[in-house]
Amino acid sequence: MKPNLTTTSKITWCPGCPNAQILVSLRQAIEGMVVGGKLKIENLVMCAGIGCHGKITDYMNVNTFTGLHGRVIPAMTGVKCANPELIVIGSCGDGDAFSEGLEHLVHAARRNSDIKIFVHDNQLFALTIGQASSTSPKGFKGKSTPFGSTEDPFNPLLTMLSVGATFVARTYAGDIQGTKRIIEAAIAHKGFSFVDIIQPCITFFDTRDFVKERIFWIDEKESVNDLNKAMMAVNRSDDKMPLGIFYNAEKETFEEALGKVGV
Ligand code: SF4
Repeated sequence: MKPNLTTTSKITWCPGCPNAQILVSLRQAIEGMVVGGKLKIENLVMCAGIGCHGKITDYMNVNTFTGLHGRVIPAMTGVKCANPELIVIGSCGDGDAFSEGLEHLVHAARRNSDIKIFVHDNQLFALTIGQASSTSPKGFKGKSTPFGSTEDPFNPLLTMLSVGATFVARTYAGDIQGTKRIIEAAIAHKGFSFVDIIQPCITFFDTRDFVKERIFWIDEKESVNDLNKAMMAVNRSDDKMPLGIFYNAEKETFEEALGKVGV
């Protein structure tokens, strides 16, 4: 039966914010999986951290948990360990995931925790009105870097592949069907799924035109089973932005390994 995934909460994102497009993709992906018998809605738990993205749990009529800034991964890991039957998905921001919470992200990927994380990557701290984050481009001028950031941006895709993530993908919030497909595949994957969603902040750093000129969908067959090729695909020397599933591998999950030692 088709689930009702909407809530009565008023959407308070800025009008036109691409977070709303991610919400549509997420709802469509979950609805399709439930109707297709691939997911039981009562088994789904969605977590979020702090940031503009974090409001998404208010708008999803599923089991939800909103944690502290940067701590969405330990919350998700705890839920999954406590009840491995649950499907645990989570949203976080780039500040959340790559600054405050980076160590959690790295170790969850390394352990292959069976959780699925969607990063709403708008390349700055948006909720606190525009400070540089780990993925802000060099030269970015914001509240904390009025003369321009002097730092090279962090490459989350390369990092996730380097530390052992078994599902690594990137999509663009403006491509609702493309994002829906990636979210479905991430949820279906057994093990740690990492999805970087390019989500321009139209209020403090509107990169929509810049992004649209540079994104392209990769031929996933080229790299999806080959870690070296996946790393080459995400480590580019130009400013193009590849989208797609770069890597998808099978490996024992953290929860399976825990079960064997009787924890
Ligand atoms: Fe969206 Fe940016 Fe507004 Fe936050 S500040 S709701 S990310 S447009």
